[in-house]
Amino acid sequence: MIPFPKKKVPRDVALKDLRILEREYPNPTTALQYRNPYELLIAVILSAQCTDERVNMTTPALFARYPSPRDLAAAKPHDVEKLIKSCGFFRMKTKSIIGAARALAEQYDGVVPEQREALEALPGVGRKTASVVMANAFAEPALAVDTHVFRVSHRLGLTLGKTPRDVEDDLTALLPKRKWGNATHWLILHGRKICKAPVPRCGECPLNSLCPTPAIIARHRSLPRQPR
Ligand code: SF4
Repeated sequence: MIPFPKKKVPRDVALKDLRILEREYPNPTTALQYRNPYELLIAVILSAQCTDERVNMTTPALFARYPSPRDLAAAKPHDVEKLIKSCGFFRMKTKSIIGAARALAEQYDGVVPEQREALEALPGVGRKTASVVMANAFAEPALAVDTHVFRVSHRLGLTLGKTPRDVEDDLTALLPKRKWGNATHWLILHGRKICKAPVPRCGECPLNSLCPTPAIIARHRSLPRQPR
């Protein structure tokens, strides 16, 4: 595994990185398909440890059967499990989405709340899920840190944060609030396309000359191999 840089890049370099990402990914959106905040919320819960493509294959049948929070709140867990099985962790996810739907139906008249505190109080909803829903469904300022955002921002030296919350704080300090939601997408798209795990494609990367990681990779490769 390639170690992350131990020092952050200067602020002006970090800002250049972000401007390049903004230029590279000018109209970023989530790959999850949804028609309303309820569908987005459920899709994001299902996307934990699962690809967006897989979630998009699963949700049409789920939402055809349970088109509103009230419908899903009344669902039998076994029926939901069958529909979402291919997303993995299906028992836990069934519990979360039925629980979230019940809370929406009972406490919010079937409407997804826009406030972070209310979202994070729903079953199966943590800070990252709440941020995705706030930014994409309600255009609220929120930056979500998933595995791509965590990895790419560390490789670029934008953060030394140990936790997603630390990374979020470093990234949001670099950007105006109106760009927080898009910045999530820039980093995710770059992580999927070029700055891949485990091996980034630095030769194809427009950030190459600013990024500390190519030098780390070069040093790493020149180290003598340990006998096994
Ligand atoms: S230069 Fe390499 S490590 Fe740095 S952002 Fe680009 S792909 Fe990732």
